[in-house]
Amino acid sequence: MSWKVSIEATAFNTGQFPPESVPEIAIAGRSNVGKSSLINAILNSRLAHVGATPGKTRSINFYLVNAGAVSFRLVDLPGYGYAERSKTERKGWSKLTSSYVESRGSLILICHLADFRHGLLPNDRLLQEWLSGHGKPFMVLFTKADKISKGKRLSMLHQYVEDGLNSIDVPIVTSCEERSGIEKARAFMENFVRRGA
Ligand code: GDP
Repeated sequence: MSWKVSIEATAFNTGQFPPESVPEIAIAGRSNVGKSSLINAILNSRLAHVGATPGKTRSINFYLVNAGAVSFRLVDLPGYGYAERSKTERKGWSKLTSSYVESRGSLILICHLADFRHGLLPNDRLLQEWLSGHGKPFMVLFTKADKISKGKRLSMLHQYVEDGLNSIDVPIVTSCEERSGIEKARAFMENFVRRGA
């Protein structure tokens, strides 16, 4: 099913959030995890800026998706955890992100991106602990799977699941380079919205 996609808002503060209407799926991940690339692949667009200077994208971007039977927003949260960020920047990040997650009744799911080579790193776990207090479900999506040989991927995925992940379903393993896992991610989102979870 093809999606019609448009950018609705770029928010640097809460006053710039669009009014709540359709359900929202937020995408979170460390800087450089491949978030913009995956968003573009999922939306089949070039709306997100790939390779932007880490730490520079501090806005929350709202993309409106019309998937035929359902509409929803994909919400691109700013990347976190970039080592060279200043304290003020980190504060700005957490203030904007937490006010979004805390205040947004229409937020139904947080897709948490993690590099398949590394799994969830300590600051990813911190983010989950911090944001799970708001009661929103997480779904883990792995990125850059092409960096791991195909024969090893399934056992790696099993290992990550066994080690313990906060994810409402088995993580989806994606690669923008190979364009693998993209359809699966799209279908998951569409079904999640349709189920009205
Ligand atoms: P963001 O900072 O999380 O938004 O990440 P970007 O999408 O800007 O990507 C960061 C870097 O990772 C860029 O150099 C991308 O080309 C690269 N990248 C993104 N996705 C993939 C992927 O699936 N495979 C590989 N090998 N590289 C990727």
